Amino acid sequence: VTIGAWTVLGAGSALPKSGFGPSGHIFEHDAVEGVTLFDCGPGTIRALDDHGVSLAQLRRVVLTHFHVDHCLDLAALAFARRNPAAAAAALEIYAPAGIQRVLEGLEHAFGRGATFDSTTLTVLEPGRGNAGIDLGGVGLKWAANGHTSDSISIALELPGAVRVGYTGDTGPHPDLEDLMRGAELLVCECSFHDAAAVTGHLTPESAGQLAERAGVRRLLLTHFYPMLDAREARALAALAFSGTLETARDGSRHRLQDS
Ligand SMILES: [Zn+2]
Ligand SMILES: [Zn+2]
Repeated sequence: VTIGAWTVLGAGSALPKSGFGPSGHIFEHDAVEGVTLFDCGPGTIRALDDHGVSLAQLRRVVLTHFHVDHCLDLAALAFARRNPAAAAAALEIYAPAGIQRVLEGLEHAFGRGATFDSTTLTVLEPGRGNAGIDLGGVGLKWAANGHTSDSISIALELPGAVRVGYTGDTGPHPDLEDLMRGAELLVCECSFHDAAAVTGHLTPESAGQLAERAGVRRLLLTHFYPMLDAREARALAALAFSGTLETARDGSRHRLQDS
């Protein structure tokens, strides 16, 4: 019985690549009311309708950091929500500390049309991630990962002790193993080929190492730069990871089942 799904709206990065747009993901689960959006890069709002998600169904947005490829569509979302035809529902935004700066910046640049109404904002403070918070029926935990000064990686704790992790952007970081421990599904960035690794990002092999050490069951590779072929990434990750490997592309849907 399918009880939930992680759908990739954007499996790419900051650089143009057909089929791999900037980061955005939707999470739907029987235990959670409405749709949750993880990151909100350019193209995310347009892609919601590809998966039948309306602004009335979108209940919360969780952001990992404030690089443009992960958050620029916040402006598009705020603007769309203000359209009377949107029939937008009350929205919860969960984000690291820089969110106030970003929201003020959007208003400064685009005016009141790019501000959120009917929205509650929860700042995910770096020291509070282990205790976590309740996200409408499931637990949300997070850990600072050093990709930027305030970036975080995220884990969802679903009923039945099922964990789903989302790294956002990160390099290897010691706190991620605990955060992702025993995850059923780890949605993990792997930006660059192992032969062309960049500080602050994972590679297929380091993504595989994280998943293997954390005892993850399914590893979903995403956030591909154009230079990294997804099939090659899968083969490289398999050198380090013994579980089930999946690769994202725009629109790919990854089901979660009851154990
Ligand atoms: Zn990114
Ligand atoms: Zn980034």
